[in-house]
Amino acid sequence: MSIALARRYRPRRFADLLVQDHVAAALRGAVAKNRVGHGYLLTGPRGVGKTTAARILAMALNCEQRDFEHPTGEPCGECASCERIWNGQANLDVVEIDAASNRGVDDARDLRERAMYAASQDGHHKVYIVDEAHMLTREAWNALLKILEEPPPGVVFVFATTEPQKIFNTAAPVMSRLQRFDFRRIGPAAIQSRLRDVLTTEGLDAEDDALLLIGRHADGGMRDALSVLDQCLSFGEGALTAARVRDVLGLVDDEAFGAVLMLVADRQPGQVFAVLDQLMDSGADLSEFAGGLAEVLRALVMHHYGVAADGLPESTQALIAAVAPRLAPEDAVRMLKLLAESENSIRRSAHPRLVLETLILRWAMMDRVVDLKAILAGEAPQPWEGPSAPVAARPIPEKRAVAPAPSAAPETPRKGSGGPAYSVPASTEGLQAIWSDVVETANRQSRLLGQALEHASPRMDEGKVVLAFGADSGVFREGAERLLGTVETILSARMGSTVTVILESGATAPPPAARKGGRMTEETIRADRLTELRRKDPTLDAAADALDLELLDEG
Ligand SMILES: [Zn+2]
Repeated sequence: MSIALARRYRPRRFADLLVQDHVAAALRGAVAKNRVGHGYLLTGPRGVGKTTAARILAMALNCEQRDFEHPTGEPCGECASCERIWNGQANLDVVEIDAASNRGVDDARDLRERAMYAASQDGHHKVYIVDEAHMLTREAWNALLKILEEPPPGVVFVFATTEPQKIFNTAAPVMSRLQRFDFRRIGPAAIQSRLRDVLTTEGLDAEDDALLLIGRHADGGMRDALSVLDQCLSFGEGALTAARVRDVLGLVDDEAFGAVLMLVADRQPGQVFAVLDQLMDSGADLSEFAGGLAEVLRALVMHHYGVAADGLPESTQALIAAVAPRLAPEDAVRMLKLLAESENSIRRSAHPRLVLETLILRWAMMDRVVDLKAILAGEAPQPWEGPSAPVAARPIPEKRAVAPAPSAAPETPRKGSGGPAYSVPASTEGLQAIWSDVVETANRQSRLLGQALEHASPRMDEGKVVLAFGADSGVFREGAERLLGTVETILSARMGSTVTVILESGATAPPPAARKGGRMTEETIRADRLTELRRKDPTLDAAADALDLELLDEG
């Protein structure tokens, strides 16, 4: 192939502009009605046809075949003038400026002087195409503003930019004088179909997935897509396969994505290293791989909600369907969040492998959406088992806190383990006498624990502290059991010797001992309110208990 595809298939007419029908129609109409403005701003991602559209406009205005009797607004694309402009050859009527390299005030002055000379012939238009316009300096814009305020006849400025906001920031008054057209991103499916047309014209064949992969890689840019297609074609004979595209682009095949998702679903962090070894051996680009993982996860979430992800190769769709029952959408969203946090580091780090490895390890170790009923029944947490799970599953919040809202309550400074050590109040009466203090201390460390101890009846039994819980206080007993070490530490400090605590359940609900002192402090009032909240909302209660959540109060 002597001429690069990107060049050979660059549009020559407005009608050929892919996806940008709205822009094409407006510009074609303006030419046909002879109502072309003096300044245009074309915005949009790279490779979507902004500069090409500007050239087509210049061609249409200066086409030797321009028909004023029956105007179509399209250039012929073939006359000497069209040919010259399309090729970007030196041309009196079209001046292309790359603002990225011409941004000083001198250039702007030069531009202004040159703009004073109208087009080369009567009826011709002088078109200035300023690419990367957001790179122009404020001074340059000021000079341009003067021109645009009193434009010489037949002069048209077309500014192309990927970052219109920057122009707005430096040159808002200019923006108001320009007609703005926003170019759309070209989706992978549109690129795939255009590549298919090109190949048909060239008499070549390719797998659908091969073209889709190129479309996705090009990320909305037709020019890039055609360049990559060129590259892939030059790398081998026969029909273009997805495998060859992956080779050329250093893309990872779906098996690697599948391996990562499966090790996460199975909670097998130890397998991360082997998977990464394989990736490195295959010469994969790790940041490309991370980007692919993000796409797969996103598609996984969409799959859960019955939304079809556009433009995914069939093999990837099959992978997602296979993994979906093993990973809940909430988990996939959390994985995406962690991925977003690491993506830049993967791209920039001197040790991208380490960053990626750490990320996948975190995924594999991450708390998972669990079945609360199973936990309450004392079973080990199971990974989410798909949409038919028996109980409404809830994600475990990253920060172990449950509403109502983060605490604004003033933190009481911790007093060690609380108060002076008693010299062995090793009697039930002595223990009960200090119990409300113990509860208060516990409450400062964990409100859950405070509540748990509040529901306990303490007594001494053969030198050990026995905490008895009523039959209806199982939840609190479990809370105390989980934080048994803390309970023992607090009591040991208070009692001045190492204390062993035994929990007893099923007692016939004696009145909570903590209230014997009858001290109504702010703490106990708040605790009451939270207990009440938990009673009213069984889900909150179960979640707080099962997951050892700290109940935070707005108070
Ligand atoms: Zn022409």
